[in-house]
This record gives sequence, structure tokens and C-alpha cells, in this order.
Amino acid sequence: MFNEFRPQQTEPSVHMPKDYEKLWDSCLNVIRQNVNQQSFKTWFGPIRPVKLEGPVLTIQVPNKFFYEWLEEHYVNLLKKSIHQELGPEGRLEYQVLLPSANQPVTEKEDHGPILPTDQIKNPFVIPGIKKLKIESRLNPIYTFKNYVEGDCNRLARSAGMAVAKKPGETAFNPLFIFGDVGLGKTHLAHAVGNDVLQNQPNKTVLYVSSEKFTNQFIQSLKNNATDDFVNFYQMIDVLIVDDIQFLANKKKTQEIFFHIFNQLHQSGKQLILTSDRPPKDLDGMEERLISRFKWGLSADLSAPDFETRIAILEKKMNREGVELPYNVTEFICFNIKKNIRELEGVLISLIAQSSLNRQEIDIDLAKNVIKKFVSQISKEITVEFIQKLVAEHFDVSVEKLQGKTRKRSIVIARQLSMYLAKNMTNQSLKAIGENFGGRDHSTVIYSCKAVSDLLDTDPFFKDTVDELEKKIKMSLHG
Ligand code: ADP
Ligand code: MG
Repeated sequence: MFNEFRPQQTEPSVHMPKDYEKLWDSCLNVIRQNVNQQSFKTWFGPIRPVKLEGPVLTIQVPNKFFYEWLEEHYVNLLKKSIHQELGPEGRLEYQVLLPSANQPVTEKEDHGPILPTDQIKNPFVIPGIKKLKIESRLNPIYTFKNYVEGDCNRLARSAGMAVAKKPGETAFNPLFIFGDVGLGKTHLAHAVGNDVLQNQPNKTVLYVSSEKFTNQFIQSLKNNATDDFVNFYQMIDVLIVDDIQFLANKKKTQEIFFHIFNQLHQSGKQLILTSDRPPKDLDGMEERLISRFKWGLSADLSAPDFETRIAILEKKMNREGVELPYNVTEFICFNIKKNIRELEGVLISLIAQSSLNRQEIDIDLAKNVIKKFVSQISKEITVEFIQKLVAEHFDVSVEKLQGKTRKRSIVIARQLSMYLAKNMTNQSLKAIGENFGGRDHSTVIYSCKAVSDLLDTDPFFKDTVDELEKKIKMSLHG
């Protein structure tokens, strides 16, 4: 086992220094013959022998992670070398250097890896350039204020706001934000960080992509400085790791991240992770990490509905100081549905094109630009269109569909229109309800359920619905 060792508790050793040092040197000779040079340097170089009491040699390691690593990967080799030197009774004990909570950061020189905070190597800083405060690496544009709320992000956004108010103190730790590319994960994670810094500037917030984290870790291995790496990350109050899915199949990086995660979580620090998929689908990720990811809250971002897309685009126009004719805005949002970054891309291209060619921004220009983003410019399926088609099919008027008649045949046509609108448009339940004479969203839910039930039990009805769906889809390409 190991003892946690706080430097101020050091007692002068009662042994002659030479004994245990010589002994450890002999052990190292055995070890050196059994591991490659890089591993030897990385994992055995930083170890300091501290004392020998009877058959027990105590060695000091820079941190707990180090200890765990040695135990996991080199336990047999260590045993072998100790037995060779001390006989079968020989044992090894570890001391782990821990920064003491109440201890001033000034340590005596020879305490090795414990460094005053500002001397812990910051992997973001190029050697030679000293920086005292840890840069958050947040993008100041990505704020809550610039983040449009919609059904697509309501849970994640409000959880983010709660976390920002009380980092590390809510049940949302980690806050795990997932969703497809371009739906606002990075923006939201930054927004939390920016909000924390605005209200609690003394907190240390850090944003890092998982690729950068991996590269830093590899670098630290090369430089024999994993302890610095770990120590650095332990100083963060709010750690944001973006696109965590890229840690898949990187076993060693996962291991060190697991360690950092635990340390931070245990000390009440906040973790915010983003991913392109939910924890359970993270293939190539260790089970114990996945289980940690599920500890807090997993919140997904889905594709925004039409109104939210319009609001996002308008916000962006505002920021760019441009205004598009409303029909152009609408046209863009009809066609770009699944990726907000693309929505912004179209806007930027439009602005660029129009200023390069001194051309007004109109539908034709928009069509040209959008062609580069989507393979097929589609007509939007609208609730009105569905109503019209269903009304025709059942030979009733659209007004009746929207009205209050409770005649069975009309009720079914009405419920079916809602069901199709829910499944075939991007409209929210609320917006669909409004298209049916101002009904509320619970009516839409109820209708969808009624149609589903009928679909399960009535094959004739199912044929009708299939046929209508086909018709609606065909209309897109007409
Ligand atoms: P992801 O990380 O999920 O790939 P990003 O966070 O990079 O997506 O978002 C892509 C772009 O869309 C960014 O420019 C971001 O500002 C913008 N964006 C995403 N969601 C929203 C939103 N709800 N309101 C305003 N802009 C958004
Ligand atoms: Mg991102």
C-alpha cells in the first residue's frame, strides 16, 4: 500500500542515506534490463528512495496516478527486483507526494515534484514564456446571450446555466452535452465557462479539446513530466473537455483522464464534457469512464425547428450588422436544417458574394449559395401543406380540420394531420397546435398517440397513412 505524504510531516531519516540509495540503485539495474529506455525514464526516473526499515524499502512517487500506474504495469518487476535484493521477505512501500491543502506552496527545493503553483508546468505555455494565471482559452463570443433557446436545447441550456451559477455544487457533474456536429455543443460549453468567469473571476476555468489533452499528455510522457501534467489539471475549478469521443481507443490517455476526473470530482470541481454521442455509445472507451460520464446529467442537443433556425440566423445577422429580406432568411432556414454552423456558413457566403459582385441579396443569390451546402434544395413540408393533402384525401375542408367539429371522421383526419406534421416537419408541438385553431401541445401529443394506437391495430388505416406519407414526400421533388 501507499502512504500519502505531506512534506511538512517529514521526519529526519534515521538510516544512513547510502543504504537505501544503494539498494534502490541495485533494484533499478534489474528494472532497467526489463523495460525499454523510454518507460524506464518516465516511470522509474522520478522515483526517490526514502528509507529502509528491516525488509521494507519505501520509495517516493510524485502522485497517486504514478503509484497506480506502477502497481498496474510494473508490480511483478518491482517485486522481482526487491526480492533479488532483500530476499523473499523484501517489500516495497510507497509514499505519494501530495500538495497539502492548507500548506503554503513554497516547498524546500529538494521536494521534487511539488512545485509552487506558478512553477507547475502549464502545458499550454510555450517553454520560456512565463504565465502566472491559467488562461481559460474560452471564446468570449460564445455566451448564453448569443445562444438562442429552443426546444432543441432547452434541457442542456438550462442545466448549463445552473452549473454556471454553482459550478461543482449541482447534481450535474459532469455535465455531459452530446449531439450531432454543428448543433452548439462547443458554444454551450464555452457559455458556461464564460458565465462562471464573469460572476466568479477568481475561479480557474479551462477549455481544452480532447485532442489537445491527448497531445499534451504524450508530450508530458516524452518530457518525463506527467506529474506536472496531472498537477496542472488538478488546479482547475471548471474543466471543459470538448469532443471527448476522440479519446476512444486511447487507453493511456483515458487512464490519466480517469485519474484527473476523479481528483477533480472528489474535490468538488466541475467537469463539462461534450461528445457527438451519448455515453453508452462511446465505443473504445473504458467502462469505468463511461460510468463516470453517467454520474451527472447527460443532455442532448437536437436539430433546431424552423422558428429556432430563423431566430438563430437573425441573431447572427444582428451580430454581423446585416439584414436579409425575410423571404431569403426563410428560404435559407427551409433548406438548412441539421447544422447551425452551415446556417452561419450560408449567411457568410451570401454576404461575401453580394459584396464581391455588388449584387443585392435575393432568393436567386441565396439559391446559388445554398447549392454548395445541400445536394438538393427542397421545398419545406409545411403543416398547411399536410392539412391540404389530408383534407383532400378525406374530402373535408381545411377549416373543418382546424375547427372544433367532433365528428368521428373529421377527428381522425385532424389527428392524422397532427401526427404527420409532427413526424414530417421540424415544427414544435406548440407550433403544430397553433396551426389547428390554437390547440395546445398536449392535444398534439394526445393525437399522435391516438394515431399510433390505430396504426397498430388497423392495417387498412396503416395503408392510408403510408400512402399519404408517400404523397407528401413525392411533393418535395416535384
Ligand atoms: P458543435 O460543437 O456541436 O459542433 P458549435 O458549438 O461549434 O457546434 O456550433 C456551431 C455554430 O452554431 C457556432 O457558431 C455557434 O455559435 C452556433 N450555434 C449553435 N447553437 C446555437 C444557438 N442555440 N444559438 C446561436 N448560435 C448557435
Ligand atoms: Mg464542437
